[in-house]
Amino acid sequence: MSSNGKLHSAEDRLAPRYKAYSLRNFRHIPQLQDLPPAYLRAIEVVGQVLPFRSNNYVVDELIDWERVPDDPMFRLTFPQPGMLLPRHYQRIEDLLANNASPKEIKQAANDIRLQLNPHPAGQLEQNVPVLDGKRLMGIQHKYRETVLFFPSQGQTCHAYCSFCFRWPQFVGMPSLRFAGQEAGQLVDYLHRHPEVTDVLFTGGDPMVMRAQNLAAYIEPLLAAKLPNLRSIRIGTKSLSYWPYRYLTDPDAEQILALFERIQQAGLHLAVMAHFNHPRELSTEAVRQAIRRIRNTGAQIRTQSPLLRHINDDADLWATMWQQQVHLGLIPYYMFIVRDTGAQHYFGVPLVKAWRIFGDAYSRVSGLARTVRGPIMSAHPGKVQVIGVTQAAGQKVLVLRMLQGRNAKWVQRPFFADYDTKAMWLNGLKPAFHRRRFFFEQAPDPARRYAGASLNCYEPAASGRAYWS
Ligand SMILES: *Cc1c(COP(=O)(O)O)cnc(C)c1O
Repeated sequence: MSSNGKLHSAEDRLAPRYKAYSLRNFRHIPQLQDLPPAYLRAIEVVGQVLPFRSNNYVVDELIDWERVPDDPMFRLTFPQPGMLLPRHYQRIEDLLANNASPKEIKQAANDIRLQLNPHPAGQLEQNVPVLDGKRLMGIQHKYRETVLFFPSQGQTCHAYCSFCFRWPQFVGMPSLRFAGQEAGQLVDYLHRHPEVTDVLFTGGDPMVMRAQNLAAYIEPLLAAKLPNLRSIRIGTKSLSYWPYRYLTDPDAEQILALFERIQQAGLHLAVMAHFNHPRELSTEAVRQAIRRIRNTGAQIRTQSPLLRHINDDADLWATMWQQQVHLGLIPYYMFIVRDTGAQHYFGVPLVKAWRIFGDAYSRVSGLARTVRGPIMSAHPGKVQVIGVTQAAGQKVLVLRMLQGRNAKWVQRPFFADYDTKAMWLNGLKPAFHRRRFFFEQAPDPARRYAGASLNCYEPAASGRAYWS
Protein backbone atom coordinates (compact mmCIF):
# COMPACT_ATOMS: atom_id res chain seq x y z
CA MET A 1 0.00 0.00 0.00
CA SER A 2 1.19 3.48 -0.71
CA SER A 3 0.71 6.33 1.67
CA ASN A 4 -2.53 7.45 0.05
CA GLY A 5 -4.03 4.01 0.48
CA LYS A 6 -3.86 3.02 -3.18
CA LEU A 7 -1.76 0.17 -4.41
CA HIS A 8 1.61 1.29 -5.70
CA SER A 9 1.59 1.81 -9.43
CA ALA A 10 4.36 0.00 -11.30
CA GLU A 11 6.08 3.34 -11.70
CA ASP A 12 5.89 4.08 -7.96
CA ARG A 13 7.52 0.79 -7.23
CA LEU A 14 10.37 1.60 -9.56
CA ALA A 15 10.79 5.19 -8.47
CA PRO A 16 8.95 6.05 -5.27
CA ARG A 17 8.27 9.73 -4.92
CA TYR A 18 9.25 11.34 -1.68
CA LYS A 19 6.34 12.43 0.48
CA ALA A 20 6.84 14.15 3.81
CA TYR A 21 4.53 13.71 6.81
CA SER A 22 4.25 16.35 9.48
CA LEU A 23 1.71 17.72 11.94
CA ARG A 24 -0.18 19.10 8.97
CA ASN A 25 -0.97 15.79 7.25
CA PHE A 26 -0.06 12.89 9.53
CA ARG A 27 -3.70 12.05 10.23
CA HIS A 28 -4.00 10.92 6.61
CA ILE A 29 -1.42 8.15 7.02
CA PRO A 30 -3.45 4.97 6.44
CA GLN A 31 -1.41 2.91 8.90
CA LEU A 32 -2.24 5.37 11.69
CA GLN A 33 -5.98 4.86 11.32
CA ASP A 34 -6.01 1.90 13.73
CA LEU A 35 -4.18 3.70 16.51
CA PRO A 36 -6.16 4.81 19.57
CA PRO A 37 -7.16 8.49 19.24
CA ALA A 38 -5.16 9.25 22.38
CA TYR A 39 -1.99 8.41 20.47
CA LEU A 40 -2.82 10.71 17.63
CA ARG A 41 -3.50 13.39 20.20
CA ALA A 42 -0.11 12.78 21.83
CA ILE A 43 1.63 13.22 18.48
CA GLU A 44 -0.19 16.50 18.11
CA VAL A 45 0.71 17.69 21.61
CA VAL A 46 4.41 16.77 21.52
CA GLY A 47 4.74 17.84 17.89
CA GLN A 48 3.90 21.42 18.90
CA VAL A 49 7.18 21.61 20.78
CA LEU A 50 9.62 19.14 19.22
CA PRO A 51 10.29 18.74 15.51
CA PHE A 52 8.25 16.18 13.61
CA ARG A 53 8.78 15.01 10.08
CA SER A 54 8.52 11.50 8.72
CA ASN A 55 8.10 10.26 5.16
CA ASN A 56 6.61 7.51 3.00
CA TYR A 57 9.76 5.32 3.06
CA VAL A 58 9.92 5.37 6.87
CA VAL A 59 6.17 4.76 7.13
CA ASP A 60 5.89 2.09 4.41
CA GLU A 61 9.20 0.23 4.74
CA LEU A 62 10.79 0.82 8.15
CA ILE A 63 8.03 0.97 10.74
CA ASP A 64 6.56 -2.35 11.89
CA TRP A 65 2.96 -1.26 12.33
CA GLU A 66 2.07 -4.46 14.19
CA ARG A 67 4.30 -3.24 17.01
CA VAL A 68 3.22 0.40 17.07
CA PRO A 69 3.23 2.34 19.40
CA ASP A 70 6.21 0.43 20.84
CA ASP A 71 8.02 0.04 17.55
CA PRO A 72 11.50 1.62 17.67
CA MET A 73 11.26 2.89 14.08
CA PHE A 74 7.97 4.57 14.99
CA ARG A 75 9.57 6.24 17.99
CA LEU A 76 12.44 7.38 15.82
CA THR A 77 10.38 9.91 13.86
CA PHE A 78 6.95 10.14 15.52
CA PRO A 79 6.60 12.21 18.70
CA GLN A 80 5.83 10.11 21.79
CA PRO A 81 4.04 11.21 24.98
CA GLY A 82 7.13 10.70 27.19
CA MET A 83 9.25 13.04 25.09
CA LEU A 84 7.78 15.99 26.98
CA LEU A 85 8.00 16.27 30.74
CA PRO A 86 4.54 15.80 32.33
CA ARG A 87 4.12 19.48 33.24
CA HIS A 88 5.08 20.59 29.72
CA TYR A 89 2.80 18.03 28.17
CA GLN A 90 -0.08 19.13 30.35
CA ARG A 91 0.43 22.76 29.47
CA ILE A 92 0.22 22.15 25.71
CA GLU A 93 -2.63 19.68 26.06
CA ASP A 94 -4.66 22.20 28.06
CA LEU A 95 -4.08 24.85 25.41
CA LEU A 96 -5.21 22.51 22.64
CA ALA A 97 -8.25 21.41 24.65
CA ASN A 98 -9.23 25.05 25.14
CA ASN A 99 -8.79 25.86 21.46
CA ALA A 100 -6.04 28.33 22.23
CA SER A 101 -4.87 30.51 19.37
CA PRO A 102 -1.85 29.40 17.31
CA LYS A 103 0.00 32.38 18.77
CA GLU A 104 -0.63 31.28 22.35
CA ILE A 105 0.44 27.74 21.55
CA LYS A 106 3.58 28.97 19.86
CA GLN A 107 4.47 31.14 22.84
CA ALA A 108 4.04 28.24 25.24
CA ALA A 109 6.05 25.97 22.94
CA ASN A 110 8.90 28.46 22.75
CA ASP A 111 8.86 28.87 26.49
CA ILE A 112 9.15 25.11 26.95
CA ARG A 113 11.88 24.84 24.30
CA LEU A 114 13.98 27.36 26.19
CA GLN A 115 13.80 25.05 29.22
CA LEU A 116 15.22 22.16 27.18
CA ASN A 117 18.77 23.50 26.95
CA PRO A 118 18.42 24.22 23.23
CA HIS A 119 22.07 25.11 22.65
CA PRO A 120 24.29 22.67 24.52
CA ALA A 121 28.09 22.74 24.28
CA GLY A 122 28.15 26.34 23.09
CA GLN A 123 26.79 25.27 19.72
CA LEU A 124 25.79 28.76 18.62
CA GLU A 125 28.63 31.00 19.59
CA GLN A 126 31.62 28.69 19.97
CA ASN A 127 34.01 27.38 17.38
CA VAL A 128 33.04 29.94 14.75
CA PRO A 129 36.19 30.93 12.92
CA VAL A 130 37.22 34.42 11.89
CA LEU A 131 38.90 35.29 8.59
CA ASP A 132 40.11 38.84 7.94
CA GLY A 133 37.97 40.07 10.82
CA LYS A 134 34.81 38.40 9.50
CA ARG A 135 33.01 35.63 11.35
CA LEU A 136 32.45 32.69 9.02
CA MET A 137 29.02 31.61 10.15
CA GLY A 138 28.78 28.37 8.15
CA ILE A 139 32.00 26.93 9.49
CA GLN A 140 32.86 25.32 12.83
CA HIS A 141 36.44 24.59 13.72
CA LYS A 142 36.76 22.82 17.02
CA TYR A 143 39.37 20.13 16.43
CA ARG A 144 42.61 20.96 14.65
CA GLU A 145 42.35 18.56 11.71
CA THR A 146 38.64 18.72 10.94
CA VAL A 147 36.43 21.61 9.86
CA LEU A 148 32.66 21.35 9.85
CA PHE A 149 30.77 23.07 7.06
CA PHE A 150 27.02 23.76 7.16
CA PRO A 151 25.89 24.47 3.60
CA SER A 152 22.92 26.81 3.81
CA GLN A 153 20.88 24.67 1.43
CA GLY A 154 21.42 21.46 3.37
CA GLN A 155 19.78 22.49 6.62
CA THR A 156 16.81 20.15 6.60
CA CYS A 157 16.49 16.33 6.57
CA HIS A 158 14.45 13.63 4.82
CA ALA A 159 12.90 12.92 8.23
CA TYR A 160 13.61 14.33 11.69
CA CYS A 161 15.07 12.05 14.35
CA SER A 162 13.04 12.58 17.50
CA PHE A 163 16.32 12.58 19.50
CA CYS A 164 18.16 15.06 17.27
CA PHE A 165 20.51 17.35 19.22
CA ARG A 166 20.12 19.99 16.51
CA TRP A 167 16.34 20.02 17.05
CA PRO A 168 16.09 23.80 17.69
CA GLN A 169 16.89 24.59 14.06
CA PHE A 170 13.91 22.55 12.89
CA VAL A 171 11.45 24.47 15.03
CA GLY A 172 12.64 27.91 13.97
CA MET A 173 14.93 28.71 16.88
CA PRO A 174 18.26 30.47 16.35
CA SER A 175 20.74 28.03 14.90
CA LEU A 176 23.67 27.61 12.60
CA ARG A 177 21.42 27.26 9.61
CA PHE A 178 21.82 30.84 8.41
CA ALA A 179 25.27 29.98 7.34
CA GLY A 180 27.55 28.49 4.79
CA GLN A 181 26.48 30.54 1.79
CA GLU A 182 29.73 30.33 -0.01
CA ALA A 183 32.18 27.67 -0.97
CA GLY A 184 34.70 30.45 -1.68
CA GLN A 185 34.98 31.32 2.02
CA LEU A 186 35.60 27.70 2.88
CA VAL A 187 38.36 27.42 0.29
CA ASP A 188 39.97 30.64 1.59
CA TYR A 189 39.80 29.35 5.12
CA LEU A 190 41.43 26.04 4.17
CA HIS A 191 44.19 27.84 2.28
CA ARG A 192 45.03 29.75 5.44
CA HIS A 193 44.78 26.71 7.72
CA PRO A 194 47.20 24.05 6.52
CA GLU A 195 46.55 22.02 9.68
CA VAL A 196 43.12 21.05 8.37
CA THR A 197 43.00 17.72 6.53
CA ASP A 198 39.27 16.98 6.63
CA VAL A 199 36.14 18.90 5.75
CA LEU A 200 32.91 17.49 7.11
CA PHE A 201 29.73 18.60 5.34
CA THR A 202 26.93 18.48 7.86
CA GLY A 203 23.55 20.05 8.54
CA GLY A 204 20.67 19.18 8.64
CA ASP A 205 21.58 16.73 5.96
CA PRO A 206 23.68 17.81 2.98
CA MET A 207 22.17 14.96 0.95
CA VAL A 208 18.80 16.72 0.78
CA MET A 209 20.46 19.07 -1.70
CA ARG A 210 20.10 18.65 -5.44
CA ALA A 211 23.25 17.24 -7.00
CA GLN A 212 24.10 20.52 -8.67
CA ASN A 213 23.86 22.42 -5.39
CA LEU A 214 26.07 19.93 -3.60
CA ALA A 215 28.50 20.09 -6.51
CA ALA A 216 28.59 23.89 -6.21
CA TYR A 217 30.10 23.42 -2.75
CA ILE A 218 32.35 20.48 -3.52
CA GLU A 219 33.75 21.29 -6.98
CA PRO A 220 35.54 24.47 -5.78
CA LEU A 221 37.25 22.38 -3.08
CA LEU A 222 38.50 19.97 -5.74
CA ALA A 223 39.51 22.73 -8.14
CA ALA A 224 41.52 24.50 -5.42
CA LYS A 225 43.89 21.51 -5.16
CA LEU A 226 44.57 22.30 -1.52
CA PRO A 227 47.72 20.43 -0.51
CA ASN A 228 46.46 19.93 3.06
CA LEU A 229 43.01 18.58 2.22
CA ARG A 230 42.82 14.77 2.24
CA SER A 231 39.23 13.82 3.00
CA ILE A 232 35.77 15.09 2.42
CA ARG A 233 33.15 13.71 4.73
CA ILE A 234 29.41 13.96 4.36
CA GLY A 235 27.30 13.41 7.48
CA THR A 236 23.94 12.01 6.43
CA LYS A 237 20.90 10.04 7.46
CA SER A 238 19.74 9.64 3.86
CA LEU A 239 20.64 5.94 3.68
CA SER A 240 18.23 5.32 6.55
CA TYR A 241 15.49 7.75 5.65
CA TRP A 242 15.57 8.01 1.85
CA PRO A 243 17.88 5.48 0.14
CA TYR A 244 16.16 6.28 -3.15
CA ARG A 245 18.40 9.33 -3.11
CA TYR A 246 21.02 7.03 -4.64
CA LEU A 247 18.68 4.86 -6.71
CA THR A 248 15.79 6.57 -8.41
CA ASP A 249 15.74 10.28 -7.53
CA PRO A 250 16.05 12.23 -10.78
CA ASP A 251 19.62 13.28 -9.98
CA ALA A 252 20.79 10.02 -8.36
CA GLU A 253 23.29 9.37 -11.15
CA GLN A 254 24.68 12.88 -10.85
CA ILE A 255 25.23 12.37 -7.13
CA LEU A 256 27.16 9.17 -7.72
CA ALA A 257 29.20 10.84 -10.47
CA LEU A 258 30.08 13.64 -8.06
CA PHE A 259 31.20 11.07 -5.48
CA GLU A 260 33.43 9.51 -8.15
CA ARG A 261 34.94 12.86 -9.07
CA ILE A 262 35.99 13.39 -5.45
CA GLN A 263 38.15 10.28 -5.50
CA GLN A 264 39.43 11.09 -9.01
CA ALA A 265 40.63 14.41 -7.60
CA GLY A 266 42.75 12.42 -5.16
CA LEU A 267 40.57 12.95 -2.10
CA HIS A 268 38.96 10.34 0.09
CA LEU A 269 35.19 10.53 0.41
CA ALA A 270 33.81 9.27 3.70
CA VAL A 271 30.04 9.05 3.98
CA MET A 272 29.31 9.34 7.69
CA ALA A 273 26.03 7.44 7.84
CA HIS A 274 23.65 7.49 10.78
CA PHE A 275 22.06 4.13 11.56
CA ASN A 276 20.21 3.74 14.85
CA HIS A 277 18.73 0.28 14.41
CA PRO A 278 19.43 -2.88 12.37
CA ARG A 279 16.08 -2.54 10.63
CA GLU A 280 17.40 0.50 8.79
CA LEU A 281 19.94 -1.84 7.16
CA SER A 282 17.40 -4.44 6.13
CA THR A 283 15.51 -3.10 3.11
CA GLU A 284 16.39 -3.89 -0.48
CA ALA A 285 16.56 -0.15 -1.17
CA VAL A 286 19.22 0.60 1.47
CA ARG A 287 21.32 -2.39 0.43
CA GLN A 288 21.31 -1.30 -3.20
CA ALA A 289 22.12 2.27 -2.20
CA ILE A 290 25.08 1.08 -0.11
CA ARG A 291 26.40 -0.94 -3.06
CA ARG A 292 26.11 2.00 -5.42
CA ILE A 293 27.91 4.38 -3.04
CA ARG A 294 30.69 1.90 -2.40
CA ASN A 295 31.11 1.40 -6.15
CA THR A 296 32.11 5.06 -6.42
CA GLY A 297 35.13 4.34 -4.23
CA ALA A 298 33.65 6.07 -1.18
CA GLN A 299 33.81 4.49 2.26
CA ILE A 300 30.78 4.49 4.51
CA ARG A 301 31.40 4.88 8.23
CA THR A 302 28.55 4.57 10.70
CA GLN A 303 27.52 6.25 13.91
CA SER A 304 24.57 6.45 16.26
CA PRO A 305 23.71 7.51 19.74
CA LEU A 306 22.65 4.93 22.30
CA LEU A 307 18.94 5.62 22.77
CA ARG A 308 16.60 4.40 25.48
CA HIS A 309 13.32 3.15 23.92
CA ILE A 310 15.08 2.60 20.58
CA ASN A 311 18.38 0.71 20.79
CA ASP A 312 19.44 0.31 24.45
CA ASP A 313 20.29 -3.32 24.02
CA ALA A 314 23.68 -5.00 23.58
CA ASP A 315 22.36 -7.74 21.27
CA LEU A 316 20.92 -5.14 18.96
CA TRP A 317 24.21 -3.24 18.74
CA ALA A 318 26.22 -6.41 18.14
CA THR A 319 23.81 -7.36 15.35
CA MET A 320 23.92 -3.87 13.90
CA TRP A 321 27.74 -3.72 13.81
CA GLN A 322 27.99 -7.22 12.36
CA GLN A 323 25.51 -6.42 9.62
CA GLN A 324 27.31 -3.19 8.88
CA VAL A 325 30.64 -4.95 8.46
CA HIS A 326 28.96 -7.58 6.31
CA LEU A 327 27.60 -4.81 4.04
CA GLY A 328 31.04 -3.20 3.83
CA LEU A 329 30.40 -0.36 6.30
CA ILE A 330 32.86 0.69 8.99
CA PRO A 331 31.48 1.16 12.53
CA TYR A 332 32.82 4.47 13.86
CA TYR A 333 31.16 6.02 16.93
CA MET A 334 28.55 5.15 19.57
CA PHE A 335 27.43 8.40 21.17
CA ILE A 336 25.78 9.31 24.44
CA VAL A 337 22.59 11.35 24.12
CA ARG A 338 23.35 15.03 24.66
CA ASP A 339 21.98 17.16 27.46
CA THR A 340 19.29 18.77 25.35
CA GLY A 341 15.73 18.26 24.14
CA ALA A 342 14.16 14.96 25.21
CA GLN A 343 17.25 13.66 27.03
CA HIS A 344 14.89 12.55 29.83
CA TYR A 345 13.28 10.13 27.34
CA PHE A 346 16.29 8.88 25.37
CA GLY A 347 19.11 9.20 27.88
CA VAL A 348 21.05 6.19 29.17
CA PRO A 349 23.29 6.69 32.24
CA LEU A 350 27.02 6.57 31.51
CA VAL A 351 27.71 3.43 33.52
CA LYS A 352 24.86 1.56 31.85
CA ALA A 353 26.00 2.81 28.45
CA TRP A 354 29.46 1.49 29.13
CA ARG A 355 27.99 -1.93 30.04
CA ILE A 356 25.91 -2.09 26.87
CA PHE A 357 28.84 -0.99 24.72
CA GLY A 358 31.22 -3.51 26.29
CA ASP A 359 28.71 -6.32 26.10
CA ALA A 360 28.12 -5.67 22.39
CA TYR A 361 31.81 -5.05 21.64
CA SER A 362 32.84 -8.34 23.22
CA ARG A 363 30.50 -10.27 20.93
CA VAL A 364 31.80 -9.06 17.57
CA SER A 365 34.98 -9.79 15.67
CA GLY A 366 37.84 -7.37 15.38
CA LEU A 367 36.49 -6.02 12.09
CA ALA A 368 33.59 -4.41 13.95
CA ARG A 369 35.80 -3.14 16.77
CA THR A 370 36.70 -0.07 14.77
CA VAL A 371 33.82 1.45 16.70
CA ARG A 372 34.60 3.71 19.64
CA GLY A 373 32.23 4.46 22.45
CA PRO A 374 30.38 5.36 24.44
CA ILE A 375 31.26 8.94 23.63
CA MET A 376 30.05 12.30 24.86
CA SER A 377 30.57 15.00 22.27
CA ALA A 378 30.94 17.68 24.92
CA HIS A 379 32.25 21.21 25.07
CA PRO A 380 35.90 20.42 25.83
CA GLY A 381 36.01 17.50 23.40
CA LYS A 382 34.87 13.99 22.68
CA VAL A 383 35.05 12.10 25.93
CA GLN A 384 35.01 8.31 25.94
CA VAL A 385 33.86 6.27 28.92
CA ILE A 386 36.61 3.67 29.21
CA GLY A 387 35.10 1.86 32.14
CA VAL A 388 34.67 1.25 35.83
CA THR A 389 37.57 0.20 38.02
CA GLN A 390 39.19 0.46 41.44
CA ALA A 391 41.95 3.00 41.98
CA ALA A 392 43.49 4.01 45.29
CA GLY A 393 40.85 1.93 47.04
CA GLN A 394 37.99 3.73 45.37
CA LYS A 395 35.51 2.77 42.71
CA VAL A 396 35.99 5.20 39.82
CA LEU A 397 35.00 5.85 36.25
CA VAL A 398 37.89 5.99 33.80
CA LEU A 399 37.48 8.36 30.89
CA ARG A 400 39.62 9.75 28.14
CA MET A 401 39.49 12.52 25.60
CA LEU A 402 39.31 11.17 22.05
CA GLN A 403 39.17 14.61 20.51
CA GLY A 404 40.04 17.80 22.33
CA ARG A 405 39.46 21.47 21.84
CA ASN A 406 43.13 21.57 22.78
CA ALA A 407 45.07 18.98 20.77
CA LYS A 408 47.28 18.21 23.80
CA TRP A 409 44.32 16.83 25.70
CA VAL A 410 43.80 13.97 23.27
CA GLN A 411 44.38 10.50 24.71
CA ARG A 412 44.70 11.71 28.32
CA PRO A 413 42.90 9.38 30.70
CA PHE A 414 41.15 10.90 33.71
CA PHE A 415 39.00 9.76 36.61
CA ALA A 416 35.57 10.61 37.97
CA ASP A 417 33.68 9.41 41.02
CA TYR A 418 31.67 6.28 40.27
CA ASP A 419 28.07 7.39 39.72
CA THR A 420 25.36 5.16 38.29
CA LYS A 421 23.01 8.10 37.70
CA ALA A 422 25.25 10.51 35.81
CA MET A 423 24.10 10.96 32.23
CA TRP A 424 26.61 13.52 30.98
CA LEU A 425 30.00 15.04 31.69
CA ASN A 426 28.51 17.85 33.75
CA GLY A 427 27.00 15.25 36.09
CA LEU A 428 30.41 13.79 36.94
CA LYS A 429 32.68 14.78 39.82
CA PRO A 430 36.46 14.55 39.55
CA ALA A 431 37.69 11.56 41.57
CA PHE A 432 40.08 11.71 44.53
CA HIS A 433 38.61 15.00 45.79
CA ARG A 434 40.10 17.04 42.99
CA ARG A 435 38.50 20.42 42.46
CA ARG A 436 38.30 20.12 38.68
CA PHE A 437 39.09 17.94 35.69
CA PHE A 438 42.40 18.55 33.93
CA PHE A 439 40.70 20.33 31.05
CA GLU A 440 38.82 22.77 33.24
CA GLN A 441 40.30 26.17 33.88
CA ALA A 442 40.94 27.44 37.35
CA PRO A 443 38.40 30.14 38.06
CA ASP A 444 39.93 33.49 37.14
CA PRO A 445 39.14 35.96 39.93
CA ALA A 446 39.86 38.88 37.59
CA ARG A 447 37.08 37.89 35.23
CA ARG A 448 33.45 37.22 35.88
CA TYR A 449 33.12 33.60 34.95
CA ALA A 450 29.60 32.81 33.82
CA GLY A 451 29.50 29.62 35.83
CA ALA A 452 30.56 27.65 32.77
CA SER A 453 33.13 25.34 34.26
CA LEU A 454 33.48 23.58 30.91
CA ASN A 455 34.02 26.75 28.95
CA CYS A 456 37.65 25.99 28.72
CA TYR A 457 39.26 26.36 25.35
CA GLU A 458 42.94 27.13 25.92
CA PRO A 459 44.44 28.60 22.76
CA ALA A 460 47.67 29.53 24.52
CA ALA A 461 48.39 25.98 25.58
CA SER A 462 48.46 24.73 22.00
CA GLY A 463 50.33 27.72 20.68
CA ARG A 464 47.62 28.98 18.38
CA ALA A 465 43.94 29.66 18.29
CA TYR A 466 42.61 27.63 15.44
CA TRP A 467 40.14 30.18 14.32
CA SER A 468 42.14 33.36 14.49
C1 LIG B 1 33.22 14.57 16.05
C2 LIG B 1 33.53 15.92 15.57
C3 LIG B 1 34.47 16.13 14.57
C4 LIG B 1 35.18 14.99 13.89
O1 LIG B 1 35.99 14.30 14.76
P1 LIG B 1 36.68 12.95 14.30
O2 LIG B 1 37.13 12.31 15.57
O3 LIG B 1 37.80 13.36 13.40
O4 LIG B 1 35.65 12.16 13.59
C5 LIG B 1 34.76 17.42 14.20
N1 LIG B 1 34.17 18.48 14.79
C6 LIG B 1 33.27 18.32 15.76
C7 LIG B 1 32.66 19.54 16.39
C8 LIG B 1 32.91 17.05 16.19
O5 LIG B 1 32.00 16.90 17.16
